[in-house]
Amino acid sequence: MTAVLTGELATELATIAAMAELYCRVHHHPNGSALCQECQALLKYAETRLDRCPYGHNKPACRHCPIHCYKPDPKAAIQHIMRYSGPRMLLRHPLLALRHLRRERRPFPAQPPRNQSQRYLRSQTDDPAK
Ligand SMILES: [Zn+2]
Repeated sequence: MTAVLTGELATELATIAAMAELYCRVHHHPNGSALCQECQALLKYAETRLDRCPYGHNKPACRHCPIHCYKPDPKAAIQHIMRYSGPRMLLRHPLLALRHLRRERRPFPAQPPRNQSQRYLRSQTDDPAK
């Protein structure tokens, strides 16, 4: 699913992927694969945003986040997907849905912490000799 994300960020991407699949199957009728190319590109975009999220592994639910890091087009696309798939998640992917609900209730600082994005942390742990 993801080559870069770990922990809660990987779970978050898995949740978005599950929502996109529910939506795509009904609205885009992808041929053979789980997602059409448009939705695959959107998922790739979501992965990059998660990797760069300044809250890192303590990120709030996107709905509550003060930052709004998506550009207008992917933001509109993901909102369509969440509006359709959100209410369906509890039945189709109960574990992911419950994790998301728990995250939605977790408090978070109004200002993101410094240097906590996963991309930054990865840059600190990567072996510079490589
Ligand atoms: Zn699609």
